[in-house]
Amino acid sequence: MDNQCEGDILVRKRRKNVPVIFEKDTPGAAGYRLPPMEVPRKDPGTLLPGATRRQVAAHLPAVNEPEVVRHYINLSSLNHHVDKALYPLGSCTMKYNPKINEELSGRPDLAALHPLAPAEACQGMLELLWDFSRELAAVVGMDEISLHPAAGAQGEMLGIKLVRAYHQAKKNAKTTILVPDSAHGTNPATVRLVGYDVEEVASGPDGRLDLDRLRSRIGLHVAGIMVTNPNTVGLFETRFQEMADLIHSVDGLVYMDGANLNALVGLVRPGDIGADIVHINLHKTFSTPHGGGGPGSGPVGVKAALARFLPVPRVVKEGDRFRWIEEAPDSVGRLHPFFGNVGIILRAYAYLRSLGPEGLAEVSRGAIVNANYLAKQVEDDYPASHPGPFLHEFVTSLAWMRKFGVKNIDAAKRLLDDGFHAPTVSFPLIVPDCFMIEPTETESRASLDSFAVSLRNIAEEARSCPEVLATSPHWTPVGRLDEAGAARALKLRWEWPSR
Ligand SMILES: *Cc1c(COP(=O)(O)O)cnc(C)c1O
Repeated sequence: MDNQCEGDILVRKRRKNVPVIFEKDTPGAAGYRLPPMEVPRKDPGTLLPGATRRQVAAHLPAVNEPEVVRHYINLSSLNHHVDKALYPLGSCTMKYNPKINEELSGRPDLAALHPLAPAEACQGMLELLWDFSRELAAVVGMDEISLHPAAGAQGEMLGIKLVRAYHQAKKNAKTTILVPDSAHGTNPATVRLVGYDVEEVASGPDGRLDLDRLRSRIGLHVAGIMVTNPNTVGLFETRFQEMADLIHSVDGLVYMDGANLNALVGLVRPGDIGADIVHINLHKTFSTPHGGGGPGSGPVGVKAALARFLPVPRVVKEGDRFRWIEEAPDSVGRLHPFFGNVGIILRAYAYLRSLGPEGLAEVSRGAIVNANYLAKQVEDDYPASHPGPFLHEFVTSLAWMRKFGVKNIDAAKRLLDDGFHAPTVSFPLIVPDCFMIEPTETESRASLDSFAVSLRNIAEEARSCPEVLATSPHWTPVGRLDEAGAARALKLRWEWPSR
């Protein structure tokens, strides 16, 4: 290690020496002062039965009010989140969640409604759910929507169950679902879970579906295909319609994974290009909070021929009244208690209504412009894996960093030091040491520019001082974690240090 490099690391590590006082308990401190009691104090023993009384006093922290406020403010910013800075996690569409949607969905007349309230008592809610389904059906060019799935992956599972129900009803003997090798990992997992065989189809050198290869796989055993569009290298599947015709020629069904709809919404409707089934991630395209920020929602849209298989309950409109259908003879059954994650659905409904059709198209255009702008800004150090133009994201390979002894995960960790979330590094598997970058439309040009500077600095560090990358992050509250361990054995509670 040369001296300059060593100096750099020391400078970067210096912050670690400043103690962060997490434990704020100070015996004797209090956040309040009560006036003296004017009535005689009662013996607690006369108020509570013995068995319910504590034997040992509760260990509550003693803190004054400013320290309590500081504690929570600091806690809220220890992790990275989209309200803090850019979160370019490819395929996940980590965009800004408008706060007005939180307020609308939290209105007491909506949020406090009991899920077992009779239909007559919640006509307003039923109308919202019904209307949102109609609007969403129009957005994706489908005939019916199920709002039940609680995530994209559950939407996929419903979709493939619908494929199975369709073939069973027609007594078609089908065994196999085709899945391109660029697919999101959930696609093959879904196929297996529902009981079909996965047949992987390699994509072409341009990163798109290879129709000749696909044609050689077509046969009566094919129940359908799952295709992510735009695909995971950020490209529109230009031959989607041709592919769909091919699948339909053997009575197969086309499942479009629409999790990446953020670049198509308002511009292209999956139902118009040959998809029979599509799922939409409300927690991506429709701006509802993600992951730890809230439950998800992955509605599924279908063509009319599949509507009778959709899960129950369903809302129907009769005249100007709404009611539930609880049973349907051909339904695949129930997928989620009650009617899915309604609090999330309402946020998405507010988003859709506030934007309107032109606003949704603007979202897509913004997402496309931002991805292409960023790709251009960093292309010297981070050339895209496939020729653009891109839709919502682009992928680059960091395999070149290996000759300096570092890899994509090291660069990802270094980004955290600059206050950015890392891009996706675990897929697509067709790009070695990938970095999958999705900036989304809610980033300003200044924000993209500063991210580009950080990326360029990291490329420079890989060449001149790779140790800095290999030992990063240096400035985050905790250093490099055992990621699998941290995810499997989450510690969600503060543990008192022994005193
Ligand atoms: C996010 C994503 C999924 C899965 O959605 P979850 O809500 O995380 O289950 C599926 N496919 C693609 C392409 C995705 O980006």
